[in-house]
Amino acid sequence: MPVFNAPVQDIQFVLQDVLNVTATGVPGYEELEADFTSAVLEEAGKVARDVLAPLNASGDAEGCVLENGTVRTPKGFDAAFAAMKDGGWTALDCDPEYGGQGLPYLMGTAVGEIFVAANMAFNMYQGLTHGAYSAIHTHGTDAQKAMYLPKMVSCEWTGTMNLTEPHAGTDLGMMRTKAEPQDDGSYAITGQKIFISAGEHDLADNIIHLVLAKAPGGGDGTKGISLFIVPKFLVNEDGSLGDRNGVSVGSIEHKMGIHANATCVMNYDGAKGWLLGDLHKGMKAMFTMMNEARLGVGLQGYAVAEAAYQNAVVYARERLQGRDVTGAKNPDGPADPLIVHPDIRRALMDQKSFVEGARAFTFWGAHLIDRSVRMGDADAEGLISLMTPVIKGFQTDKGFEMAVQAQQIWGGHGYIEENGMSQFVRDARIAQIYEGANGIQALDLVGRKLAQDGGKHVMAFFEIVKTFIKEHQDDEQMKPFTDPLKAASKDLQAAAMYFMQNGVKNPNNALAGSYDFMHMMGHVCLGLMWARMGKAALDGLAAGRGDTAFLETKIATGRYYMARHLPATGMHLARIESGADPVMALAADAF
Ligand SMILES: Cc1cc2nc3c(=O)[nH]c(=O)nc-3n(C[C@H](O)[C@H](O)[C@H](O)COP(=O)(O)OP(=O)(O)OC[C@H]3O[C@@H](n4cnc5c(N)ncnc54)[C@H](O)[C@@H]3O)c2cc1C
Repeated sequence: MPVFNAPVQDIQFVLQDVLNVTATGVPGYEELEADFTSAVLEEAGKVARDVLAPLNASGDAEGCVLENGTVRTPKGFDAAFAAMKDGGWTALDCDPEYGGQGLPYLMGTAVGEIFVAANMAFNMYQGLTHGAYSAIHTHGTDAQKAMYLPKMVSCEWTGTMNLTEPHAGTDLGMMRTKAEPQDDGSYAITGQKIFISAGEHDLADNIIHLVLAKAPGGGDGTKGISLFIVPKFLVNEDGSLGDRNGVSVGSIEHKMGIHANATCVMNYDGAKGWLLGDLHKGMKAMFTMMNEARLGVGLQGYAVAEAAYQNAVVYARERLQGRDVTGAKNPDGPADPLIVHPDIRRALMDQKSFVEGARAFTFWGAHLIDRSVRMGDADAEGLISLMTPVIKGFQTDKGFEMAVQAQQIWGGHGYIEENGMSQFVRDARIAQIYEGANGIQALDLVGRKLAQDGGKHVMAFFEIVKTFIKEHQDDEQMKPFTDPLKAASKDLQAAAMYFMQNGVKNPNNALAGSYDFMHMMGHVCLGLMWARMGKAALDGLAAGRGDTAFLETKIATGRYYMARHLPATGMHLARIESGADPVMALAADAF
């Protein structure tokens, strides 16, 4: 069975040494002293190791089963879900007014990484509930909050998000689900949604569906869409459960990965729903959930890669094949372990440097969300809005690639299901597709986010990078970080300039380069994170603080990322500057 150990030391390093959380002044962060965060993370690590990870492979093999109108989750999931609820893990970063523990979102993210890495499919039941909780918390009336949030915080009731329809995936403006106003102030929701994660299951007493639908008078396209709360069981005024609502699961999908999470066709037959937020402003309300979900999916990208990497390391140490060309390392054995070979090292370094960089980037994103929510910091809100498609798109592409690299280290044995490496690859794949396929993340970044608020946020990002380089470029030890960062950031700025100069006369010039831009920006963001981590590690060593071997490893890993991955920005820039012509050269019927 695959191993999983929570990377607590590395998470602690990002929280305490890189983000320096207690010094940020964010309300609530004063609680995040090193001893406290370490205790929480260690405890989460035990739950992940003892409760969640052992169900990962069995949940994948067994999958979900639709029986008599409900979905049976795999063996052991109900007990594990109860353990998560009893341990208070579902309430960690929720509002104390509704039974939450009030910890910062950053802390929820750090703990979430550990749980997702241990069992991604399981964690989605709670993850979607958290997203629905946030949407109701932000847009709900006081009565709606009082009715739904306490039970969602405790996960006695879970949540879903219902956007997709058979003919309306990316293009939600084409959705057909209707909401007819009723005399009692509710709406009758009718239509079909597909691919709804955790749409039906046996882990909770009630399921609170957040459903996008078209109410009369809103016009065409996405403008006419509103968001509705549609509970599986109607809720009485005293909070008890009433009649079954007109929503049911039609079927569940048989899919490539995340077998233990039910992906449902949901039929709404005049189901009672209540407007959440403003009429015809449903996309805005749903975006609260989607932005959180996109960060969560970006996290899935590197968390699954972390789990795969840990198992690649174990195998690379144990498997004996070939000899080290510079001299045998295991002379008494029939061969040396795989880990002596430079190409295996390359693959391991790729994985390690990506995962640790992505962790820092994701935590920085979560920190920006805390700044925006807890301090009303508009600059932080602008910055995270810019970064969201990068965290989602870049990290899930790379996360999948790294899971494949980890599988590759296992050779043919990685292709065999019982060894578990195949599951990491299959599970990681969906993160590139849902929550807006990655091509759409790239369009969002280049088509919307770059120009948002007059380009203010991307300029702010460039300024952050520039300031860091200026402050540290004269430090010889920092040169392996600052020089590549400077070159990569110059490429990124040149690409943004190319879009400005050529995108207006032909928008295809920008759209044809959008995917390269997303990856380029991902490298620059991870480069900035590595530069910060390098600085923190060098400071730690100079001060004789912390674990020397850990800090030296950190610096070497960062140098690898800067030397081997940041040069990719040059290739992406060359592609971008070739414009739309090579991409669009063929007529559609020439394919
Ligand atoms: C396992 C699973 C779980 C899911 N969970 C949920 C859920 O809980 N709730 C929910 O509402 N949905 C869910 N989805 C749906 C998912 O979000 C959609 O599948 C996804 O958004 C893409 O929509 P689509 O499949 O219709 O693809 P399409 O919209 O048909 O797109 C197909 C491809 O074309 C690209 N494309 C589309 N338009 C453009 C364009 N203008 N320019 C360039 N490229 C374009 C896309 O990037 C994509 O690669 C889930 C899907 C799966 C498979």
